[in-house]
Amino acid sequence: MSLDGQSFAVAAAFICAVQALASFYVWHVQLRDRSVIQLALSATIVAIGATLGASRPHLPLVLTHLTASACLVVGHALGASAFARFLGRRVPLTVLVGLSVAAVAFMTFFLFVAPRTEIRIAIYSLSVAAYSLIIAGLLLDVPRGPLRATHWPIGILYLVHAVFAVIQAFSVLVQARDDIFAPGWIQALWFIQSIAVVTLTFTGLVLMTTQRISIELDRQASYDMLTGALNRRAFERLAEAEWSRSVRHDLPLSVLVLDLDRFKTLNDAHGHDAGDVWLKTFVDMTRGLLRREDILCRYGGEEFVILLPQTGLEAATYAAERIRRSVDGLRIEGSSVSGSVSVGVAEKSAGQGDFKALFTAADQALYRAKQAGRNRVAT
Ligand code: GH3
Ligand code: MG
Ligand code: MG
Repeated sequence: MSLDGQSFAVAAAFICAVQALASFYVWHVQLRDRSVIQLALSATIVAIGATLGASRPHLPLVLTHLTASACLVVGHALGASAFARFLGRRVPLTVLVGLSVAAVAFMTFFLFVAPRTEIRIAIYSLSVAAYSLIIAGLLLDVPRGPLRATHWPIGILYLVHAVFAVIQAFSVLVQARDDIFAPGWIQALWFIQSIAVVTLTFTGLVLMTTQRISIELDRQASYDMLTGALNRRAFERLAEAEWSRSVRHDLPLSVLVLDLDRFKTLNDAHGHDAGDVWLKTFVDMTRGLLRREDILCRYGGEEFVILLPQTGLEAATYAAERIRRSVDGLRIEGSSVSGSVSVGVAEKSAGQGDFKALFTAADQALYRAKQAGRNRVAT
């Protein structure tokens, strides 16, 4: 297959420039993250490099050969740094800058001191391969879960890009090719997949940023902002699932309904801000007393619910009593604020048709605890 390399370079430059603009736009409207700006800059520099490379023989050698390859290498380095930043990772600066400086120095040497075109192309290709491998490593190393679906395809794309860059480096050396645009199937494949990388990187970026935003929205929709406990809506969904699981496998299930005692008085005496701190302190302390599988929810105001899977009444009452006792001795650092909590406990029983019935039983127990004088556990 013989394709015109120079036309490809012009097309790649144009696509890169468009992607750079699109990335700046994504940054502007959707995700004001430095990594997105960095990626846009990287695409801009690659576009400049490809334009210069395609401008031979109309511009001086130092621009069309040296500056062009330097831009392409630095653009890839910036791309690697952008992906690292996006993922909250770090690539050592010595690797990012050192590799670029070494590549440009060697390319300068093989352009002016001992002119060897094939060695220059090989150095350029191998540095692109190195940066692509870094990007692939970062993207393929995301934790198990939904992130993989958006990160892995782009990671694999960069892995393929790295492999092609290495093949290009060796083929150029073996054939002693003295023109990067010399026709041939390796050259044709190299340009085609380079265009795929440029376009899909942008698609990937949009996918990854959108996913990041939707994960954040999901988190905000499921958790209470003040205490970090699950909110009522998210809790009810989990509670229904837990109820079905306990029925299906005939497992015990208990629920605690907790209400802070005389919280209005606490607010009146110490101020609403102190009340907020107390709520947060209560949740942090309570969470420390629970197992990983227990589900803690801020049901509303100063009322909380805790679902205890695979737990019978006795163990649930014990857990409730431990929380009650801990709150009783709890003080906010540097203030005189203190308080107590009343807890209603109920275990799933044969007469209950759904989770609501179990919850109501615990809520009625809580009412009795309040009636009996507060700061106590009722079952
Ligand atoms: P009881 O022992 O009967 O439960 O008395 P209580 O004062 O705790 O109950 P009541 O329902 O009368 O008052 C609840 C108070 O909780 C009133 C409300 O201002 C306060 N509250 C609800 N949400 C928040 C919050 O997010 N922050 C603060 N500081 N206070 C809150
Ligand atoms: Mg209360
Ligand atoms: Mg209340």
